[in-house]
Amino acid sequence: MVQTAQTAGRAGASLDILPALAKTAPLMADPKVNEQMEKIVSLCKRRGFIFQSSEIYGGINGFWDYGPLGAELKRNVKDFWWRTMVHTRDDVAGLEATIIMHPQIWKASGHVDTFVDPMSTCHGCKRLIRTDQAWEMIETSGWGAPLKELYQSHAPADELAKWAETKGKRLVPRLALILNPRAVAANWERRLQESSNAERPTLRQFFVAMGREEYEPGYSIPPCPHCGSELTEPRPFNLMFRTCVGPAADDDNVAFLRPETAQAIFVQFKNVLETSRQKVPFGIAQAGKAFRNEVTPRNFTFRSREFEQMELEYFIRPDEAIEAITGQVTKPAAGHPGEPRPCWGWQTWHQYWVEERIRFYESIGLPRATLEEYWQTPEELAHYARATVDLLFKFPFGTQELEGIAARSDFDLSQHQRFSGKTMGVFDEELKLAWAKLDEAKKAELSKRYFEARLKYLVKMGEAKEKAEKLATEDAAGLAKGNYIPHVIEPSAGVDRLILALICNAYTEDQAPDEKGKLETRVVMKFHPRIAPIKVAVFPLLKNRPELVKKAHEVRDLLRPHMTVFYDDAGAIGRRYRRQDEAGTPFGVTVDFDTLGEKRDLLNTVTLRDRDTMQQTRVKIGDLLSLLLEKIR
Ligand code: ATP
Repeated sequence: MVQTAQTAGRAGASLDILPALAKTAPLMADPKVNEQMEKIVSLCKRRGFIFQSSEIYGGINGFWDYGPLGAELKRNVKDFWWRTMVHTRDDVAGLEATIIMHPQIWKASGHVDTFVDPMSTCHGCKRLIRTDQAWEMIETSGWGAPLKELYQSHAPADELAKWAETKGKRLVPRLALILNPRAVAANWERRLQESSNAERPTLRQFFVAMGREEYEPGYSIPPCPHCGSELTEPRPFNLMFRTCVGPAADDDNVAFLRPETAQAIFVQFKNVLETSRQKVPFGIAQAGKAFRNEVTPRNFTFRSREFEQMELEYFIRPDEAIEAITGQVTKPAAGHPGEPRPCWGWQTWHQYWVEERIRFYESIGLPRATLEEYWQTPEELAHYARATVDLLFKFPFGTQELEGIAARSDFDLSQHQRFSGKTMGVFDEELKLAWAKLDEAKKAELSKRYFEARLKYLVKMGEAKEKAEKLATEDAAGLAKGNYIPHVIEPSAGVDRLILALICNAYTEDQAPDEKGKLETRVVMKFHPRIAPIKVAVFPLLKNRPELVKKAHEVRDLLRPHMTVFYDDAGAIGRRYRRQDEAGTPFGVTVDFDTLGEKRDLLNTVTLRDRDTMQQTRVKIGDLLSLLLEKIR
């Protein structure tokens, strides 16, 4: 999604950030968050979910590799998204476009001019910091969290100074409070006394004050979340990675690694429409790599510089066309609006996609209670967006965005029409026929509304008033003939963030008996069977008994064409179970002597172990495949 910031100009080359890579070490966070995340990060490495990219060379900040289990998990999630969004719907077609595209695309989309983050440099430790994220980093840091508590409990200056002289000194050595505790604390107390309760300084002002010997009203730059020194004034930093196409590395050959997958969908809209025999309303889906030169990649894979997105652009009629065709535009009530209907306006479509996406998350094991819906305020919305809902997940390090679902008006296709000179509109036979039957008053009302919306967009995009009026008049005349530029609803999800959410959600510790019956802590990754990397593990009870091994191979080969199977014959059976619990394998099949007919009535049966309950049931080998398929689909 294009940033909302309108303040930006084109910032310096993305390579500026490279010298700082070594300096962007992770921030020491709240100890409890640290502990939970440390366990998760260590399991990811130990079990082969996620590795640091280029690890043997010291790693490269913001880049991550998926190991054997992670690669399967990711593939399952992407496949299920594709199945849900494309294969099981009549109204969505797929696309797979290139990562490097014509640079004009990023001019038209606004990324060249406004895809920027505010960046500051720390005067002390020289780290680069995203200025707007510094507050949150401070409040959840090892030093910010206790200071926040002192602030909230109205601690007196003495207590503040005492903290600075003891714990604070160790945690945040360059904060002005630490360098000069008595003076800063006294200043702070004076400021509190001077202000009435109603105008009590905010938490953020408190942190600014803690970072400076003198508090200047209006000064709002936070101290460095890492060392507490002053940060420079924020400057805009464009997040796109630049490269050159062809042998000459000059400005004429500059191209960008795509910062989102969505733009290719808009650019190929006409081709897909013509070849897929779809008509509005319909969607185009794409999943693939995206690149953003994030100033401060952090929270493990949450904010990476190379990541994957799964995006749908769902094209709908403008409300004026809907009203002309159906005589009304329905607005949504709470909850899922049900099966799509022709009278749905953009608001109902938007609600529909929010609810559909929540259902998707539920169906891969993220219950609604782990998610939050955040409706962006009018001030936060991009100028072209009519509404945006962020679906947030409760990560151990905070409740953060997984996916954004935006109603983006007709902005994107209109921009590509203006920049490419190619028409991006569609002809809608139904609209043409319906329009002819409207009374004159209705025609005038709908034309006026459409004219005004188009005029607003054109003026906002910098067209001169006269030209904008001429173009908007043509657009309104086009509507009467059945032509319009479709509006779009965009559910845009991040694969890597979702994988991290699934891993955090799955991570569980419980108590289970070891080989000798003594209780020990068991780590279980409780993935939904649908997305679990390995669906079933097959174990011969003993590996030195050829008849058991032969049978176990038969079971493995029976299941393997249909699902991921892990064959394990090494070590005690209890330890083999534990290994699969950590890998998140939902089912374990053990071939024992009863399978071979030691007890005649159990011939050709195996035990099927459930990862979460650890319960074992006896199942006929002949029933195994259909039983497992039912559970993993
Ligand atoms: P944020 O505000 O967290 O930077 P955004 O609003 O810029 O995210 P969008 O542009 O809406 O994100 O991108 C859609 C989705 O792509 C996000 O919801 C997220 O899941 C994913 N995404 C965006 N940036 C990153 C990143 N740097 N690393 C991993 N995933 C990302």
